[in-house]
Amino acid sequence: MQQIPRAFRGRNSSGALPQEPSGSVVPPEERPPSCLSLSGRQPGGTAAYLLSSQPKDIPLTAPALNSALTDVTPYITAWEYERPNAVPIVGKRLGIAYLRENPYDRDSFGVLWSSCGLARGQGRPDYGRVHPQRQRQCMGGLLCQRCAGPADENEQGVLWLLDAEPGSPSPAEGEVTAHPPVCRGCAAEAIRRCPPLRRGHALIRVKEPEVSGVHGMLYRPTRLSTYAVATGRKEFIPYTDPMVRWVLAGQLYARLFDITPATHDELIREAA
Ligand SMILES: [Zn+2]
Repeated sequence: MQQIPRAFRGRNSSGALPQEPSGSVVPPEERPPSCLSLSGRQPGGTAAYLLSSQPKDIPLTAPALNSALTDVTPYITAWEYERPNAVPIVGKRLGIAYLRENPYDRDSFGVLWSSCGLARGQGRPDYGRVHPQRQRQCMGGLLCQRCAGPADENEQGVLWLLDAEPGSPSPAEGEVTAHPPVCRGCAAEAIRRCPPLRRGHALIRVKEPEVSGVHGMLYRPTRLSTYAVATGRKEFIPYTDPMVRWVLAGQLYARLFDITPATHDELIREAA
């Protein structure tokens, strides 16, 4: 069995990610809800062997980069022109595959990932969708989901901001989340600007984040066709489960261990 690392803690790139140029001040009516992109909803559906969200009505010429809106939109949020690619999915003996794959379609554990266009900043942000590759980049590298810089880390661990009902207890050991961590500045900004997060959230430090599986659509083989069929069920499947080869991955998820509640004082200092 393939060894699963305790956590992919390596900041997997050389660090510096391309940042969009700073834009001018965004008029209020242009501003997005500004929550962290916390939705776990995935594109795609259950129809036959194709992703149901096939590109439609996309003009040949995409609009110019909306750099002002890009600056205030979470890095992992998918944009209007970042549609899932309609790629046939076939069922093989041990799992699903694209009819024609390239080396970037699978992660290092051999799991197939959802194919999605890259057009960040073009059109409007779609806050209901997460871009699979950018989410994977942030979770795998422990980068801030909002700005793609390094997530904040101190002796108590990496900073995480999670949805929570007001007054609910701190997340339990082993909490499962597909939300990448955050930096202090983005945590403060998200809490300040997002009403649901203002009402309730969990701000925690995590010493042992364990990136341990994927979330995505589960497929099954059919006897009548070489194509696999989407079951309509999106599930969290650990890399140690052979069924992970039947999932079209949309997000990496982590289990959080050695959790300590974080104080808001440091965020207040950041926002001041
Ligand atoms: Zn950030």
